Amino acid sequence: MEDCLFCKIIAGEIPSKKAYEDDDMIIFSDIDPKAKYHYLCVPKTHFKLLSEMTEKQGEILLKCLKKIPELEKELHLKGGYRLVINQGDNAGQSVFHLHIHILSGQKMGWTPA
Ligand code: AMP
Repeated sequence: MEDCLFCKIIAGEIPSKKAYEDDDMIIFSDIDPKAKYHYLCVPKTHFKLLSEMTEKQGEILLKCLKKIPELEKELHLKGGYRLVINQGDNAGQSVFHLHIHILSGQKMGWTPA
């Protein structure tokens, strides 16, 4: 996708602080962290919303969800962590390439607004 920020990060055209990468996904630090540690797990296949996800993309998303807890040390997951997938306007999605926020390293409250 030509104008997609995360596709450009995946292609190495925009630098990122990478924590993990394989054929299906990349995990890097969020540029504007909302917790002590804040990573983004981005499937390399481009799609915007869960409602647009194909079967194959669903398999890759499952791989992402399985990989994250395997990276307990690298992502500072010990003690608990939060995963967030923003979908659309109300959630404030700002990058239209599906991604999982990984928040860790501290106790978190629950303030949706
Ligand atoms: P969302 O608002 O759920 O679409 O999440 C997009 C996230 O991408 C935000 O948390 C931004 O801080 C983050 N972000 C934007 N640009 C970059 C970048 N160049 N490198 C790392 N994270 C970024």
